[in-house]
Amino acid sequence: MTGPLLSVRGVRKVFPLPQPLWRGLRGLPPPVVHALNGVSLEVARGETLGIVGESGCGKSTLARCLVRLWDVDDGQILFEGQDIGGLKGPARRAFNRRVQMIFQDPYSSLNPRMRVRQILAEALSVHRMRPAAEIPPRIAELLDLVRLPADAADRFPHEFSGGQRQRIGIARALAVEPEVLVADELVSALDVSVQAQVVNLLLHLQERLNLTVVFVAHDLRLVRHISHRVAVMYLGRVVELAPTEVLFSAPAHPYTRALLSAAPELDPARRTSRAATRGELPSPLDLPKGCLFATRCPLAFDRCHAERPEPTPRGPGHLAACHLPELPAQSQDRP
Ligand code: SF4
Repeated sequence: MTGPLLSVRGVRKVFPLPQPLWRGLRGLPPPVVHALNGVSLEVARGETLGIVGESGCGKSTLARCLVRLWDVDDGQILFEGQDIGGLKGPARRAFNRRVQMIFQDPYSSLNPRMRVRQILAEALSVHRMRPAAEIPPRIAELLDLVRLPADAADRFPHEFSGGQRQRIGIARALAVEPEVLVADELVSALDVSVQAQVVNLLLHLQERLNLTVVFVAHDLRLVRHISHRVAVMYLGRVVELAPTEVLFSAPAHPYTRALLSAAPELDPARRTSRAATRGELPSPLDLPKGCLFATRCPLAFDRCHAERPEPTPRGPGHLAACHLPELPAQSQDRP
């Protein structure tokens, strides 16, 4: 099929908090965390979309909404043009199989009392992927796919290193032959030396199996290495979306520029010692009226505090949500 495999359209997600007594007495509604504030993006079949942003920007919430661990409060997520919020029965089960999530913490996502063989056999049985006789060879195949030895099948999760456990998690996700993998901070719990091995494995699997991958991470180096396109999130909104090399060489949003400045090893031409962003991150309980980045943006002007910018085209496949049509040369936005 043509068209995007996944479409996210104006998605909002809030998390209600317990009502403090004083708010109730004043007749105020319970406070809510505005986790996603109108996210729109598309993911093409066979591509890897990186999603980056600071902690609390909503990227993990978006990842969970993409696999429908959480339902959205407003907007839609479409898979092959169908709203996943309306899927029921067999259609829901088919979606659950075709779109798999790989969790951040390999230590807690594997049942410690099950051998790897049981973990993978369970995944194969739940979706009736293979007749019983074909399960053992399929387990061997899965272990080979993630570059683990065949005898790993007879061991328990605690007998493996963190990187190996993450490979088991990937094998379990692949057992049901998904088309989409949503990887949320896949390697952030691992040693730096192991991170590259796991990310390279994912890159290899994506190409070999033509997977569509949504790679959620705060590490820009990893995102640049693995992604075809990158979406930058800030306070529950996508502020910039571009092909990877465009985003890293010519960012069009002040926040993206700030993120890149905080990772100077990515681009020696931008090497600087200044902080990535100044000021406090606004509370997701009480969002600013205008641009969400206005409280920290060195380029903010009056309109920024009054009107929230929508994403506008900046080049082929490149969108940025900023009132400035283009950024001034980097030195001009220094204090
Ligand atoms: Fe900065 Fe204004 Fe652009 Fe927001 S709209 S990023 S405050 S210049």
